[in-house]
Amino acid sequence: MNLDSIAQKVRSAARKLLVFDRDGTIVPYADHPDDAVMDEKLKATLISLASSPGMDVAILSARGINDLERDFSKGQPVILAGNYGLEMRMPDGSEFVEARARSCKNELAEIYEKLKFLEGALFDGILENHGLSVCLHWHRVKPEKLEEFKAHVHSVAENLSGVALKSFPTSFEFFPEFSWDKGKGLELIYKEVVQGDQPCLVLFCGDTDSDEPAMDFANRMEGISIRVGYSDGDGADRKIKSTLANHRFESPVQVGELLSQILNPRL
Ligand SMILES: [Mg+2]
Repeated sequence: MNLDSIAQKVRSAARKLLVFDRDGTIVPYADHPDDAVMDEKLKATLISLASSPGMDVAILSARGINDLERDFSKGQPVILAGNYGLEMRMPDGSEFVEARARSCKNELAEIYEKLKFLEGALFDGILENHGLSVCLHWHRVKPEKLEEFKAHVHSVAENLSGVALKSFPTSFEFFPEFSWDKGKGLELIYKEVVQGDQPCLVLFCGDTDSDEPAMDFANRMEGISIRVGYSDGDGADRKIKSTLANHRFESPVQVGELLSQILNPRL
């Protein structure tokens, strides 16, 4: 199924929920997360889609809601699901936080303070406080410093109570230790927006292995799942090894094209 037929399938459904991971999916990666800025045209397209009858649009990201609100301020109709969906802001402005995650906030704030020295010039890590999680990127850490850097991270991870350390290809994440993933986040969004047994077409788009549980949910709902992948030279760690998605796109550019095509189909 090509891009035009996916757009057509979405357009022909009476009720639809379009959900996107942010970084690497609709916004290209940057060396520093602060520099990964959403394109204004894409933003306008997402807002127009979210305002269309029968259509809900959500961003489901590892970033915190505070971060996501830099893209969509209060009053804009896009649903924001931060920290893999542990916190959510609905189009009417109402917000909620998963209760178990809320109780981890103090411990995560302490972890953030303990990790701060790793982002200075000595190590050049990039530390992000997402409120309900703490992310530490190490792609800029010099190879000769990496072992020491990782040892510091693991020492902070000793004696945690409600929080666990997760390891990703170029980052660490301190996250509430109960079982949670983007599949549960997507299910939560779905339950918020779909009333009763009204059929609703779900489309989910993501670019990393942490998006796979949401691909699984979209597939179980007989929806559309799209994995965005990269060709050689754009970070070997981001190349797709395996995916549950039923479609693959090359880059965020194609996702943007799909959104434009859903909004204003080519004749
Ligand atoms: Mg991503």
